[in-house]
Amino acid sequence: MSDDAIRLCSVSRRYGTGESAVTALDEVSLAFPEGTFTAVMGPSGSGKSTLLQCAAGLDRPTSGSVVLGGTELTGLSETGLTRLRRERVGFVFQAFNLLPSLTAEQNVALPLRLAGRRPPGSRVREVLGQVGLGERARHRPTELSGGQQQRVALARALITRPEVLFADEPTGALDSRTGHEVLALLRTMVDSEGRTVVMVTHDPVAASWADRVVFLVDGRVHGELAGAGADRVAAHLARLEALPC
Ligand code: ADP
Repeated sequence: MSDDAIRLCSVSRRYGTGESAVTALDEVSLAFPEGTFTAVMGPSGSGKSTLLQCAAGLDRPTSGSVVLGGTELTGLSETGLTRLRRERVGFVFQAFNLLPSLTAEQNVALPLRLAGRRPPGSRVREVLGQVGLGERARHRPTELSGGQQQRVALARALITRPEVLFADEPTGALDSRTGHEVLALLRTMVDSEGRTVVMVTHDPVAASWADRVVFLVDGRVHGELAGAGADRVAAHLARLEALPC
């Protein structure tokens, strides 16, 4: 049996107070086993981004606990959380978020530099090779296509060998062919290297690359599907979006 890379226990996140208070997450309990690929879906405003942010230590739950590889995140200081984000989790965003003045290899090396470590050139070339961009190391983001930029972002997220890779709509800005390349890379990282991937997406085709799809509605888990194709995922999502508020 595999261990959980990350575990959320009764996690709630409320924003604001009084009448304007919003409950973005409502007692969510979820486990993400090591070496699995999970997609998180749900209608707009259902709490997907908040879930990702709380799981990755980018945001703090109002109550409940988040345990990443045996570390209770809610007990960490700001410095401890910053270190955890730098060294133990990786992030890929819809908008790539590469620094335009840096080359691909400098962008990839950045997390190690920020952690005060000297990035070995061999490691930078290794991860760029993994995402199929060994030949583009000296290119700047503007000299790369959207799909290539997202692959640089993926290499940057992997350079620290994170325990969990979080992806927030990683294919949202890509056409379906380049989106497919990025999803295939995520799948390979799980299958060949045993990495754990948690991905928010609104696209049933993207979600069908995952081992399971967890659905959120109004900040609560509302079922999940394992090994489902895009049609089944889309049908499930359509039912959720038709639920009365
Ligand atoms: P999703 O990613 O599924 O669209 P979010 O996690 O972004 O949903 O948001 C869930 C709910 O929490 C929404 O009602 C949203 O308006 C609210 N919310 C998110 N972030 C904040 C914030 N910083 N301040 C106030 N409300 C927020």
